[in-house]
Amino acid sequence: MKLETSAPRDIQNKLEPLQDGRFRFDCHPGVPCFTECCRDLRLILTPYDLLRLKNHLRLTSSELIARHLELKPDESSGLPQAFLAMQDNPRRTCPFVAAEGCRIYADRPSACRTYPLARATRKHAVHGLVLEAYYVLHEDHCRGFEQDRIFDTDQWVADQGLVDYHEMNNLWMEIVTHRALKQRPLTAQQMQMVYLAAYDLDRFRQFVFGSRFLEKFAVAEEDLAAARDRDDGLLKLAFRWLRFTLFHDPVLGLSNA
Ligand code: SF4
Ligand code: SF4
Repeated sequence: MKLETSAPRDIQNKLEPLQDGRFRFDCHPGVPCFTECCRDLRLILTPYDLLRLKNHLRLTSSELIARHLELKPDESSGLPQAFLAMQDNPRRTCPFVAAEGCRIYADRPSACRTYPLARATRKHAVHGLVLEAYYVLHEDHCRGFEQDRIFDTDQWVADQGLVDYHEMNNLWMEIVTHRALKQRPLTAQQMQMVYLAAYDLDRFRQFVFGSRFLEKFAVAEEDLAAARDRDDGLLKLAFRWLRFTLFHDPVLGLSNA
Protein backbone atom coordinates (compact mmCIF):
# COMPACT_ATOMS: atom_id res chain seq x y z
CA MET A 1 0.00 0.00 0.00
CA LYS A 2 3.00 2.29 -0.50
CA LEU A 3 1.51 4.53 -3.13
CA GLU A 4 4.68 6.65 -3.21
CA THR A 5 6.42 3.76 -4.98
CA SER A 6 3.56 1.86 -6.68
CA ALA A 7 1.84 4.86 -8.32
CA PRO A 8 2.73 5.86 -11.90
CA ARG A 9 6.19 7.51 -11.93
CA ASP A 10 4.90 10.87 -13.15
CA ILE A 11 2.84 11.41 -9.98
CA GLN A 12 5.04 9.78 -7.34
CA ASN A 13 6.82 13.02 -6.42
CA LYS A 14 3.51 14.93 -6.21
CA LEU A 15 2.05 12.76 -3.45
CA GLU A 16 1.90 14.28 0.02
CA PRO A 17 0.62 12.90 3.32
CA LEU A 18 -2.53 14.39 4.78
CA GLN A 19 -2.09 16.75 7.72
CA ASP A 20 -3.92 15.31 10.77
CA GLY A 21 -6.03 13.31 8.32
CA ARG A 22 -7.35 16.45 6.65
CA PHE A 23 -6.69 18.64 3.62
CA ARG A 24 -7.68 22.09 2.39
CA PHE A 25 -9.41 22.10 -0.98
CA ASP A 26 -12.40 23.22 -3.00
CA CYS A 27 -13.30 23.16 -6.68
CA HIS A 28 -16.09 25.24 -8.21
CA PRO A 29 -16.68 27.47 -11.25
CA GLY A 30 -15.13 30.41 -9.40
CA VAL A 31 -11.59 28.96 -9.18
CA PRO A 32 -9.25 30.56 -11.76
CA CYS A 33 -8.15 27.15 -13.05
CA PHE A 34 -11.70 25.81 -13.56
CA THR A 35 -11.64 22.83 -16.00
CA GLU A 36 -7.92 23.31 -16.67
CA CYS A 37 -7.30 19.82 -15.29
CA CYS A 38 -9.75 18.16 -17.71
CA ARG A 39 -7.27 17.71 -20.51
CA ASP A 40 -4.21 15.76 -21.54
CA LEU A 41 -5.03 13.04 -19.02
CA ARG A 42 -4.04 9.42 -18.82
CA LEU A 43 -7.40 8.70 -17.21
CA ILE A 44 -7.78 5.05 -16.28
CA LEU A 45 -11.36 3.84 -15.95
CA THR A 46 -12.66 0.97 -13.85
CA PRO A 47 -15.39 -1.39 -15.04
CA TYR A 48 -17.83 0.39 -12.71
CA ASP A 49 -16.85 3.73 -14.29
CA LEU A 50 -17.76 2.24 -17.66
CA LEU A 51 -21.09 0.99 -16.35
CA ARG A 52 -22.01 4.47 -15.08
CA LEU A 53 -20.75 6.17 -18.24
CA LYS A 54 -22.60 3.95 -20.70
CA ASN A 55 -25.87 4.43 -18.83
CA HIS A 56 -25.37 8.19 -18.57
CA LEU A 57 -24.62 8.46 -22.28
CA ARG A 58 -27.31 5.88 -23.20
CA LEU A 59 -24.81 3.83 -25.13
CA THR A 60 -24.27 0.10 -25.22
CA SER A 61 -20.98 -1.03 -23.71
CA SER A 62 -19.71 -1.86 -27.22
CA GLU A 63 -20.59 1.65 -28.42
CA LEU A 64 -18.88 3.20 -25.40
CA ILE A 65 -15.72 1.21 -26.13
CA ALA A 66 -15.76 2.20 -29.80
CA ARG A 67 -16.37 5.91 -29.18
CA HIS A 68 -14.53 6.75 -25.99
CA LEU A 69 -12.05 4.12 -24.84
CA GLU A 70 -8.52 2.99 -25.48
CA LEU A 71 -8.01 -0.57 -24.27
CA LYS A 72 -4.46 -1.75 -23.67
CA PRO A 73 -3.03 -4.76 -21.85
CA ASP A 74 -0.84 -4.03 -18.83
CA GLU A 75 2.76 -4.67 -19.89
CA SER A 76 3.62 -7.22 -17.22
CA SER A 77 0.34 -8.96 -16.32
CA GLY A 78 -1.47 -8.64 -19.65
CA LEU A 79 -4.58 -7.49 -17.79
CA PRO A 80 -6.54 -5.20 -20.13
CA GLN A 81 -6.81 -1.60 -18.92
CA ALA A 82 -9.31 1.00 -20.11
CA PHE A 83 -8.37 4.65 -20.66
CA LEU A 84 -10.67 7.51 -21.56
CA ALA A 85 -9.65 8.73 -25.03
CA MET A 86 -8.87 12.43 -25.04
CA GLN A 87 -10.01 14.51 -28.00
CA ASP A 88 -7.76 14.87 -31.00
CA ASN A 89 -7.09 18.61 -30.60
CA PRO A 90 -3.95 20.56 -29.56
CA ARG A 91 -4.95 20.63 -25.87
CA ARG A 92 -6.11 17.00 -25.83
CA THR A 93 -9.26 17.96 -23.94
CA CYS A 94 -11.55 15.45 -22.26
CA PRO A 95 -14.57 14.70 -24.49
CA PHE A 96 -16.90 15.63 -21.65
CA VAL A 97 -15.55 19.01 -20.59
CA ALA A 98 -17.50 22.20 -21.34
CA ALA A 99 -17.12 25.83 -20.25
CA GLU A 100 -19.66 25.24 -17.47
CA GLY A 101 -17.85 22.15 -16.19
CA CYS A 102 -18.16 18.39 -16.55
CA ARG A 103 -21.06 17.35 -18.80
CA ILE A 104 -21.30 13.93 -17.16
CA TYR A 105 -20.84 15.19 -13.60
CA ALA A 106 -23.41 12.84 -11.99
CA ASP A 107 -21.55 9.83 -13.42
CA ARG A 108 -18.00 11.15 -13.68
CA PRO A 109 -15.26 8.54 -13.23
CA SER A 110 -13.72 7.46 -9.91
CA ALA A 111 -10.43 9.24 -10.57
CA CYS A 112 -12.19 12.58 -11.21
CA ARG A 113 -14.18 12.19 -7.99
CA THR A 114 -11.19 11.17 -5.90
CA TYR A 115 -8.89 14.03 -6.98
CA PRO A 116 -7.11 15.77 -5.21
CA LEU A 117 -6.73 12.58 -3.22
CA ALA A 118 -5.08 9.37 -4.35
CA ARG A 119 -6.34 6.14 -2.77
CA ALA A 120 -4.30 2.99 -2.21
CA THR A 121 -5.95 -0.27 -1.11
CA ARG A 122 -4.94 -3.73 -0.05
CA LYS A 123 -6.81 -6.68 1.37
CA HIS A 124 -5.92 -7.78 4.90
CA ALA A 125 -4.36 -11.26 4.73
CA VAL A 126 -6.25 -12.55 7.79
CA HIS A 127 -9.69 -10.96 8.03
CA GLY A 128 -9.99 -10.05 4.32
CA LEU A 129 -11.22 -6.50 4.87
CA VAL A 130 -10.03 -3.83 2.45
CA LEU A 131 -7.51 -1.46 4.03
CA GLU A 132 -7.12 1.94 2.43
CA ALA A 133 -4.70 4.83 2.63
CA TYR A 134 -5.00 8.32 1.18
CA TYR A 135 -2.48 10.85 -0.08
CA VAL A 136 -2.90 14.35 -1.47
CA LEU A 137 -1.90 14.61 -5.12
CA HIS A 138 -0.60 18.14 -5.27
CA GLU A 139 -0.37 19.48 -8.82
CA ASP A 140 1.01 22.98 -9.32
CA HIS A 141 -1.68 24.16 -11.73
CA CYS A 142 -4.49 23.32 -9.29
CA ARG A 143 -5.65 26.38 -7.32
CA GLY A 144 -8.17 24.38 -5.34
CA PHE A 145 -5.60 24.10 -2.54
CA GLU A 146 -5.90 27.87 -1.98
CA GLN A 147 -9.59 27.62 -1.11
CA ASP A 148 -10.99 27.67 2.43
CA ARG A 149 -12.82 24.37 2.86
CA ILE A 150 -11.28 21.65 4.98
CA PHE A 151 -12.19 17.99 4.52
CA ASP A 152 -11.25 14.72 6.13
CA THR A 153 -11.27 11.66 3.89
CA ASP A 154 -14.68 10.39 5.05
CA GLN A 155 -16.21 13.77 4.31
CA TRP A 156 -14.58 13.82 0.87
CA VAL A 157 -15.78 10.29 0.04
CA ALA A 158 -19.35 11.27 0.99
CA ASP A 159 -19.15 14.68 -0.72
CA GLN A 160 -17.98 13.16 -4.00
CA GLY A 161 -20.44 10.24 -4.03
CA LEU A 162 -17.64 7.69 -3.86
CA VAL A 163 -19.26 5.06 -1.61
CA ASP A 164 -20.80 2.98 -4.43
CA TYR A 165 -17.65 3.42 -6.54
CA HIS A 166 -15.45 2.12 -3.73
CA GLU A 167 -17.65 -0.92 -3.17
CA MET A 168 -17.46 -1.94 -6.83
CA ASN A 169 -13.85 -0.87 -7.40
CA ASN A 170 -12.72 -2.91 -4.38
CA LEU A 171 -14.11 -6.01 -6.11
CA TRP A 172 -12.20 -5.11 -9.29
CA MET A 173 -9.00 -4.57 -7.29
CA GLU A 174 -9.22 -8.20 -6.13
CA ILE A 175 -8.64 -9.12 -9.78
CA VAL A 176 -6.12 -6.38 -10.65
CA THR A 177 -3.93 -7.17 -7.64
CA HIS A 178 -4.38 -10.96 -7.69
CA ARG A 179 -1.16 -12.79 -6.81
CA ALA A 180 -1.60 -15.17 -9.77
CA LEU A 181 -1.07 -12.25 -12.16
CA LYS A 182 2.39 -11.72 -10.69
CA GLN A 183 3.33 -15.31 -11.38
CA ARG A 184 1.95 -15.74 -14.89
CA PRO A 185 0.65 -13.17 -17.38
CA LEU A 186 -2.76 -13.70 -18.95
CA THR A 187 -3.03 -15.63 -22.20
CA ALA A 188 -4.70 -14.03 -25.23
CA GLN A 189 -7.85 -16.04 -24.53
CA GLN A 190 -7.93 -14.90 -20.89
CA MET A 191 -7.52 -11.29 -22.01
CA GLN A 192 -10.61 -11.70 -24.20
CA MET A 193 -12.52 -12.96 -21.16
CA VAL A 194 -11.58 -9.79 -19.27
CA TYR A 195 -12.56 -7.57 -22.21
CA LEU A 196 -15.93 -9.28 -22.28
CA ALA A 197 -16.79 -9.45 -18.59
CA ALA A 198 -15.19 -6.31 -17.21
CA TYR A 199 -15.62 -3.86 -20.07
CA ASP A 200 -18.31 -5.09 -22.48
CA LEU A 201 -21.07 -5.69 -19.97
CA ASP A 202 -23.95 -5.82 -22.45
CA ARG A 203 -22.22 -8.61 -24.35
CA PHE A 204 -21.51 -10.36 -21.05
CA ARG A 205 -25.27 -10.20 -20.34
CA GLN A 206 -25.92 -12.00 -23.63
CA PHE A 207 -23.30 -14.57 -22.66
CA VAL A 208 -24.95 -15.22 -19.27
CA PHE A 209 -28.58 -15.28 -20.40
CA GLY A 210 -28.16 -16.38 -24.00
CA SER A 211 -25.74 -19.30 -23.69
CA ARG A 212 -25.36 -22.38 -21.48
CA PHE A 213 -23.72 -20.29 -18.76
CA LEU A 214 -26.53 -20.93 -16.26
CA GLU A 215 -26.46 -24.67 -17.00
CA LYS A 216 -22.76 -24.75 -16.24
CA PHE A 217 -22.54 -22.45 -13.22
CA ALA A 218 -24.63 -22.57 -10.05
CA VAL A 219 -25.68 -19.01 -9.35
CA ALA A 220 -27.76 -18.34 -6.24
CA GLU A 221 -31.30 -17.16 -6.95
CA GLU A 222 -30.77 -13.71 -5.39
CA ASP A 223 -27.51 -13.18 -7.29
CA LEU A 224 -29.21 -14.23 -10.52
CA ALA A 225 -32.09 -11.81 -9.88
CA ALA A 226 -29.59 -9.01 -9.16
CA ALA A 227 -27.69 -9.81 -12.37
CA ARG A 228 -30.91 -9.84 -14.37
CA ASP A 229 -32.31 -6.62 -12.90
CA ARG A 230 -29.32 -4.37 -12.32
CA ASP A 231 -26.06 -3.65 -14.11
CA ASP A 232 -24.11 -3.58 -10.83
CA GLY A 233 -25.50 -7.05 -9.99
CA LEU A 234 -24.37 -8.27 -13.42
CA LEU A 235 -20.93 -6.74 -12.95
CA LYS A 236 -20.55 -8.48 -9.56
CA LEU A 237 -21.30 -11.79 -11.30
CA ALA A 238 -18.78 -10.88 -14.01
CA PHE A 239 -16.07 -10.32 -11.39
CA ARG A 240 -16.83 -13.68 -9.75
CA TRP A 241 -16.76 -15.46 -13.11
CA LEU A 242 -13.40 -13.87 -13.89
CA ARG A 243 -11.89 -14.86 -10.54
CA PHE A 244 -13.19 -18.41 -10.99
CA THR A 245 -12.08 -18.89 -14.59
CA LEU A 246 -8.78 -16.97 -14.44
CA PHE A 247 -7.54 -17.88 -10.96
CA HIS A 248 -9.71 -20.82 -9.82
CA ASP A 249 -10.87 -18.82 -6.78
CA PRO A 250 -13.83 -20.70 -5.23
CA VAL A 251 -16.28 -17.84 -5.65
CA LEU A 252 -18.57 -19.55 -8.16
CA GLY A 253 -19.81 -23.16 -8.18
CA LEU A 254 -20.30 -25.57 -11.05
CA SER A 255 -23.86 -26.86 -11.48
CA ASN A 256 -22.81 -30.51 -11.50
CA ALA A 257 -20.22 -30.12 -8.69
S1 SF4 B 1 -7.28 22.32 -11.39
FE1 SF4 B 1 -8.04 21.81 -9.32
S2 SF4 B 1 -9.33 23.53 -8.66
FE2 SF4 B 1 -8.92 23.78 -10.86
S3 SF4 B 1 -10.72 22.85 -11.80
FE3 SF4 B 1 -9.18 21.23 -11.65
S4 SF4 B 1 -9.55 20.19 -9.67
FE4 SF4 B 1 -10.69 22.14 -9.67
S1 SF4 C 1 -14.87 13.26 -16.99
FE1 SF4 C 1 -15.53 15.28 -16.32
S2 SF4 C 1 -14.34 15.71 -14.47
FE2 SF4 C 1 -13.34 13.99 -15.54
S3 SF4 C 1 -11.76 14.90 -16.84
FE3 SF4 C 1 -13.62 14.74 -18.08
S4 SF4 C 1 -14.71 16.69 -17.86
FE4 SF4 C 1 -13.18 16.56 -16.22
